[in-house]
Amino acid sequence: MARPSAFDRLHPKQERTLVLVKPDGVKRGLVGEAIRRFEQRGLKLIALKMVAPGQPYFHDHYPKEQAWIFRLGEKTLSAFQKYGLDAKKMLGTDDPKKIGPKVRDWILEYMTSGPVVAIVIEGIHAIDMVRKITGPTLPNMAEMGSFRGDFSVDSPTLANLDKRAIHNLIHASENAAEARHEIKHWFTKAELHDYKRAEEDVMF
Ligand code: ADP
Ligand code: MG
Repeated sequence: MARPSAFDRLHPKQERTLVLVKPDGVKRGLVGEAIRRFEQRGLKLIALKMVAPGQPYFHDHYPKEQAWIFRLGEKTLSAFQKYGLDAKKMLGTDDPKKIGPKVRDWILEYMTSGPVVAIVIEGIHAIDMVRKITGPTLPNMAEMGSFRGDFSVDSPTLANLDKRAIHNLIHASENAAEARHEIKHWFTKAELHDYKRAEEDVMF
């Protein structure tokens, strides 16, 4: 049987996910606070760097599937509907298939508005745990106690009226396929480190 690759380990303690502290998080001095929250939960940092790649790099980081782009448009539309705003009047269309690509372009502008800190995090259920610590996409809906809930207040309505992406401080992989793609995209195998945290023998 083939051995699992470095990107695809099977032991639950070795699940990996990618985090980016986005340009707004870096500019607000929240890198340390983000790392503190992940480490406090028993998750292990195994790679870390500050980088500022251009838009093509982020174009390849984010999914290109129609379904994902459509979902961006739908998020915008449902926020507009919830707050009684007219998407057609404000964005020129109420078709999520047309709004999605606009939002995707805004995301690339946002992600290149300053350096980001890229981190690979490893641990039990790392993907779900990191998403939980981060909180849901829309800061206005994020619970207090989550990173986005504690430090951000943006909403799609506000962002889309200004024709920009939602500023929500952190990116975190959503599922195993995304994590695999993103870790490979941001780090070489040599940049991923292997060590034991002292808590590993006590916490789990
Ligand atoms: P998440 O980052 O929570 O995984 P998505 O993958 O759906 O969320 O979207 C990627 C990023 O694009 C979000 O973190 C946010 O910065 C931005 N974004 C998502 N939906 C919208 C939207 N409707 N309008 C503006 N920006 C959005
Ligand atoms: Mg996502």
